[in-house]
Amino acid sequence: MIKIEFSLAIAVYLGLTVGLILLVWIYFEKRKTLESFYSENRFFWQCSICTYVYIDSMHNLISQCPRCGSYNKKEG
Ligand SMILES: [Zn+2]
Repeated sequence: MIKIEFSLAIAVYLGLTVGLILLVWIYFEKRKTLESFYSENRFFWQCSICTYVYIDSMHNLISQCPRCGSYNKKEG
């Protein structure tokens, strides 16, 4: 009797933990997607070579750094 209750408690505990992690994960994924959609952050580029931050609203996938001239690819 005690053994069954113990395994049941562990099952409930595991289920709640996994559910909570899933909820938090979905929440952060949704927030990340909304941010990239609605904020102006997509126009901001940071050069991977010289870490110079600039604005380029003309390009979506690849942009050229105005300082060092290297090409930067948008990730995510
Ligand atoms: Zn650069």
